[in-house]
Amino acid sequence: MSRSVLVTGGNRGIGLAIARAFADAGDSVAYTYRSGEPPAELAELGCLAVKCDITDPEQVEQAYKEIEDRHGPVEVLVANAGVTRDQLLMRMSEEDFSTVLETNLTGTFRVVKRANRGMLRARKGRIVLISSVVGLMGSAGQANYAASKAGLVGFARSIARELGSRNITCNVVAPGFVDTDMTRVLSDEQRQGIVKQVPLGRYARPEEIAASVRFLASDEAAYITGAVIPVDGGLGMGH
Ligand code: NDP
Repeated sequence: MSRSVLVTGGNRGIGLAIARAFADAGDSVAYTYRSGEPPAELAELGCLAVKCDITDPEQVEQAYKEIEDRHGPVEVLVANAGVTRDQLLMRMSEEDFSTVLETNLTGTFRVVKRANRGMLRARKGRIVLISSVVGLMGSAGQANYAASKAGLVGFARSIARELGSRNITCNVVAPGFVDTDMTRVLSDEQRQGIVKQVPLGRYARPEEIAASVRFLASDEAAYITGAVIPVDGGLGMGH
């Protein structure tokens, strides 16, 4: 049965692969994009592109109204949108810190809170948050990003407890290094250094993250909530 799925930051990278995976499975997929043009490939799959900056509460509300008009209340939410502003602590500005927290953690709070309204009414729902291996392991130069991604774990587990009795699950996927724009800014030397630490010896493909997200939203995963699923080639050894 086709479900109303929302993926934030679905215009590129991991979010694009997630939106494609749900659309390929026959779901009614909406995704947010913040800048640029929505990708043609998702339009061809019938996905609904909604412009939305998750740091703006009004844009989030507007996006949900548009999605609800077209697809009905969101039944599966994948909170994927995220940013980095890497810098050593000594040089990290207030703005570097707050921009990352405001997007990755507060922005996620905003979209989850709004989705929860319809899910409570329906007495069912699936929420998947995209965290990161560095939220659990830490990463020099990424104190802001790691804090935001670690925050998602406590957030998800609290929601899992609050909403479990309403048949709403909330889980976290913690990817390792994935080949997207976010990691393409790294130098070859940095990339090689990372790959050396990954037991599987390579970066992930965005589709490999999408597969675990789809699983968590599937009937087979009905009894999984509050979990953190590492998809990191063994980098965190299951944390
Ligand atoms: P990209 O940089 O390729 O894409 C980020 C996405 O988030 C874009 O769609 C971007 O929109 C969107 N976005 C950023 N800020 C906002 C905002 N304020 N409002 C709405 N949308 C926003 O990153 P990835 O695909 O690599 O990452 C996706 C998620 O996976 C992120 O949460 C990231 O932290 C996480 N992750 C990535 C890893 C990796 O190695 N790549 C590893 C672990 C986790 P726009 O195009 O407009 O900028």
